[in-house]
Amino acid sequence: MKNVFFAWLLLCTMTVWAQKDKKLTDKTVDKASIAAHLRFLSSDALEGRDTPSKGQAVAAEYLRTQMELYGVKAFDQYPDYYQPVQMKKVVKPSEGVIAVDSMELRIGEEFLLINGGNFDVTSKVVYLEYATPDEIKSADVKGKVIVANAGDGQDVSPRAWFGLISDKRKAAKDAGALAVIELYNSAQIPWNVLKRYLSGDRVALDYGDADDSFPSIWVNNANQERSEAFIKAKQLTLTMSGGNVDRFEVFNVVGYIEGTDPELKKDYVVYSAHYDHVGIGQPDSTGDAIYNGARDNAVGSVTVLEAAKNIGMYPTKRSSLFVFFTGEEKGLLGSEWFVEKSPVALSDMVYCFNSDGGGYNNTSMASVIGLDRTTAEDLLVEAIESYGLTAGDDANYKEQGLFDRSDNVSFAKKGIPAPTFTPGMDAFDDEIFKYYHQPSDEFETLDMDYMYTFYRAYVLAGRLIGNMKETPFWKEGDKYYEAGKSLYNN
Ligand SMILES: [Zn+2]
Repeated sequence: MKNVFFAWLLLCTMTVWAQKDKKLTDKTVDKASIAAHLRFLSSDALEGRDTPSKGQAVAAEYLRTQMELYGVKAFDQYPDYYQPVQMKKVVKPSEGVIAVDSMELRIGEEFLLINGGNFDVTSKVVYLEYATPDEIKSADVKGKVIVANAGDGQDVSPRAWFGLISDKRKAAKDAGALAVIELYNSAQIPWNVLKRYLSGDRVALDYGDADDSFPSIWVNNANQERSEAFIKAKQLTLTMSGGNVDRFEVFNVVGYIEGTDPELKKDYVVYSAHYDHVGIGQPDSTGDAIYNGARDNAVGSVTVLEAAKNIGMYPTKRSSLFVFFTGEEKGLLGSEWFVEKSPVALSDMVYCFNSDGGGYNNTSMASVIGLDRTTAEDLLVEAIESYGLTAGDDANYKEQGLFDRSDNVSFAKKGIPAPTFTPGMDAFDDEIFKYYHQPSDEFETLDMDYMYTFYRAYVLAGRLIGNMKETPFWKEGDKYYEAGKSLYNN
């Protein structure tokens, strides 16, 4: 009796229209279809859905077939639901030497090539403190190799330093320099760890830039051991060979359902998730080498499928855009491409409800990365609580910076309010690492009772946002608030 009473009480706290949305949610989200989707997308047959791979191509076929079955329409530009995404695989030079002073530094050992390819030059050196775009502008760098310290002297995190490279590189290229060599010295990420991250081949978006050979380089400068040699050098020789670039095409899968309200239907709520994962790799102790990515991100892909199924039957007032991204694991590539070439004006997208599942360790909650950052917070909490879960955010592991590490950030940077919905994670602990980017991230290890509850909460939350009276927006003072104001002109 007690449970019935509390269920009744809970129902009473919901508004009448939220109750209606909940009924519609319960009508379509069903356990069998969730299990079928998850089992297929994370099956060994898809070989971990790497970008690019046959397994990923099959996953894309599956997703668009489901969209078609659910009554999702294709955009005129992408009549088969496929948005082509151009990418390139950059194979780094296998041989490379920087000869400076009396030193010979080798690629992959004492220096790492961040951007660029084969190269052969002997030139004058110009030393700048950090080679910020301003420093470059006011120096004579034409026809010379720039040597500088990594970073900008402000931020101490190598992750931030890495983010500065593309601006430095562009400024140097524009000013007629030949290369940028940065001296790397940080205890935060030791050189040996960095080497593992940056030595391998790289997959990037291919915007058709003809010349991509301009080198940017990090040199191991632990304890400033090489500063002096570089600072006093008049010239150096840089040679690299054995690199190449393979261009290829992969796909985002995208479609829409028109809204029912004559006014609100010009606005879109975006339901998004990446469907790629990391493919086949290092085997674990059982010999399994397929990284199935059930949590990451078959779980997220299925939130979008379940939303499409539901809204296909019971459209919301606002229009809905459903999109599955390729290349997230290579650096959020599919979503970055999508926001540049979207079939809908960005200013018509009022909200992006992304889903990405690194894993979960608490089945009494659902987590929303960015929960308290948009004005849809109350509706998200309402939807989650109405299924007996509590709503959490990333307060316990803010230092991971998860908000800026998934596809939602491609939208946020443009100003579109964009949190990421994920299964309950109250800490970044061993329970997460057990499966995170491991061959053991398999369908059989998912708690399907919890998944069923989780999906209903997502679909209901999506419906509430699709029907909400006010247009959702960033809360004042948010990092992306100003970007939002300029996007929507308000
Ligand atoms: Zn993911």
